[in-house]
Amino acid sequence: MTPVLSLRGVAKRFGGLVAVNRMDFDVAEHEVLGLIGPNGSGKSTTLNLISGAFPVSAGTISLRGEPVTHLPPQDIARRGIARTFQLVRLLPSMSVLENVMAGAVFGHRRRWGHEAESVAEAMLEKVGLGGRGHMAVGQLTYIDTKRVELARALAGEPRVILLDEWLAGLNPTELEDGIRLIRSLRDEGRTIVLVEHVMDAIRSLCDRCVVMASGSKIAEGTPAEVLADPDVIRAYLGD
Ligand code: ADP
Ligand code: MG
Repeated sequence: MTPVLSLRGVAKRFGGLVAVNRMDFDVAEHEVLGLIGPNGSGKSTTLNLISGAFPVSAGTISLRGEPVTHLPPQDIARRGIARTFQLVRLLPSMSVLENVMAGAVFGHRRRWGHEAESVAEAMLEKVGLGGRGHMAVGQLTYIDTKRVELARALAGEPRVILLDEWLAGLNPTELEDGIRLIRSLRDEGRTIVLVEHVMDAIRSLCDRCVVMASGSKIAEGTPAEVLADPDVIRAYLGD
């Protein structure tokens, strides 16, 4: 079966720095793929290449077999790739509901007006923010801003969702809730690329992991396989 997402030979240079080097991986439909690796290994850059935020230096990115490599971010979103950011990005002058509606309007499935509003309300409910659409983004706690971003990504009914350290910075209770929320998305059969540092989350949520170090893929396999791999352990310990 054609993968939902595939990367072939994808590379990104920033001046002399090779941030991402010849990355190859596929994400199958309904799969949760963990993209893991030490800080600075190129995970966020990889997501930025997939979402079109940065132009690739080399390689091909395909969505269901069709190249999307050189499309602008809004077209990539329209084709069905949604994301959240490592540093939350919401529109502060808009309400919670309006932020999520933007995901419905500019996402994969184009919705307008009342339809966009009801999708946004449903997604807020799903992420645990039911009835809080009227709030200003600035009134929210940190985890709730993360929930809004997730709701915005979901509102476009994407084919694949990229989550960049969505669980980072949460306290233990929030983390439990967050893992449960992502597991519920997984149980709905969503296709997810999860950039994550929280090992418990990786073990319990990911079908497969791709491990990066210094811009390159150093391992690929089930969470149990990669987390026992000596190369991966060495990369995390930082020799
Ligand atoms: P990770 O998300 O795995 O922690 P990043 O993808 O953010 O790593 O960064 C990989 C490397 O690319 C780092 O060395 C980082 O400093 C560099 N980098 C990331 N974004 C930029 C940029 N916009 N300009 C220059 N260098 C960057
Ligand atoms: Mg990062």
